[in-house]
Amino acid sequence: MLTSKEQKLEKELIGEVWQNSQIYENMLVMADEIGSRFAGTPSEKQAQEYMVKKLKEYGYENAQAIPFTYYGWKRGPVKLEMTAPVKREFEAISLAMSPGGTVEADVINLGTGSPEEFEAVKPEDVKGKIVLCSSATSPTGKRVHRRTKYGYAVKYGAVGFIFMNHNPGQLAPTGSLRPSYRMGGEIPGIGVSLETGSLMLRLAKDKPVRVKFSDGSKVLPNTKSANIVAELPGRIDEWIVVGGHYDGHDIAQGAMDNLSGTVVTMELARLLKPYEGKFKRGIRFICFGCEEVGVTGSTCYVADHLDQMKNTAMMVNLELGGLAYVDGMKHAAFTVYQPPEMKQWIEEFLEDVAYPTSISTGMSAASDHWPFVMQGVPAIYMHEEPSMRQLVQGRGWGHTTADCMDKVDPRNLQEGTMLMVRLLLRMANQRKRIAKHTPLKKIIKGLEKTGMKKTLEIQLKWHPDSPR
Ligand SMILES: [Zn+2]
Repeated sequence: MLTSKEQKLEKELIGEVWQNSQIYENMLVMADEIGSRFAGTPSEKQAQEYMVKKLKEYGYENAQAIPFTYYGWKRGPVKLEMTAPVKREFEAISLAMSPGGTVEADVINLGTGSPEEFEAVKPEDVKGKIVLCSSATSPTGKRVHRRTKYGYAVKYGAVGFIFMNHNPGQLAPTGSLRPSYRMGGEIPGIGVSLETGSLMLRLAKDKPVRVKFSDGSKVLPNTKSANIVAELPGRIDEWIVVGGHYDGHDIAQGAMDNLSGTVVTMELARLLKPYEGKFKRGIRFICFGCEEVGVTGSTCYVADHLDQMKNTAMMVNLELGGLAYVDGMKHAAFTVYQPPEMKQWIEEFLEDVAYPTSISTGMSAASDHWPFVMQGVPAIYMHEEPSMRQLVQGRGWGHTTADCMDKVDPRNLQEGTMLMVRLLLRMANQRKRIAKHTPLKKIIKGLEKTGMKKTLEIQLKWHPDSPR
């Protein structure tokens, strides 16, 4: 419960979001004028400068770009040709972190590329072939990450990887193949639209498909990027990290994924700055770079700031894609990563603010909370309310050329911001500790039990003793 002073402050904060929100303004500049903000592009640098400038305008003298080094990547042109049983050329694009190269081989169609579908075939049936799989939810109802599918393809000895969108619209999907804080991909990977992939299969008429593709992309070791950090110190040296990644994919504006989370992070920083000194805990606003190339910016941030982890009371990840979506009114919901007691904390919060919504518990390694989680930091994720659409469409427009501003309704983001600022107010001022850190041994045990360790091994992301 809030004190009467805090209640007054809360009213001011909510009013400020409703009346003077800069969410949409910042989105328009960063999407339409600046661009994709993709790792290694000029728009990435421009976005960094813009965010630091804006945060300084909001009063954060300490706003800065903190650099890190990673395996960069440059997209090159792709030429895709079916060589048998029919000869024909198709359109395709490279998948981020593909090392490039030319391959020609028979295609093995592994459906959605889930572990079950890989495990149903022998590695020798895949060896030397090009794996084709789609982005659809697996036959057992699971959404499997592209990096897992690619990891299996490499492990089984495939020479190439074709990732087919399962959503219509002539949209070839992109997405990264390996964690760029460690490495680039081993075999070339390309994305094709549902229409292209299914046409190839139809033309083959159940005969083996043979394709040749060349990919001009390159992995560029020792590339530099930066995370944008602004700090609002509290009265004690304990911090809440709130943020999300600012980079999008180079083929689109990345408006939903994840400019939406970026502008909400900036708005929260703007809202709270006038009240500096009124909070017990500090709040560290971070816009992470290079998430789209393997959760790299947040991983490097954690690796370079291990001393901060003990005093990080909470990591709130803002990957708000679906919450920004224009298709009707969206409400926010939460996922608790760890510890399980946080579920009750959120339940009490939602009751207090009269915002009934869903809270799930679970784990995912595919976004910026992950490196914090591995250091034991309590972590939660705000997102849109779960729906059948997500299960059917998966990323939807995400990771395609269509993730642009016309899909965004800023009112949905305003609602999310109002909820989040109320949550931060309570977290920053709660007298008792918010939640316990989780010991590494316990984290590992949990990941073994759920099978996530195996998935991370396949993705080459299993390194519990080292943050990167
Ligand atoms: Zn994202």
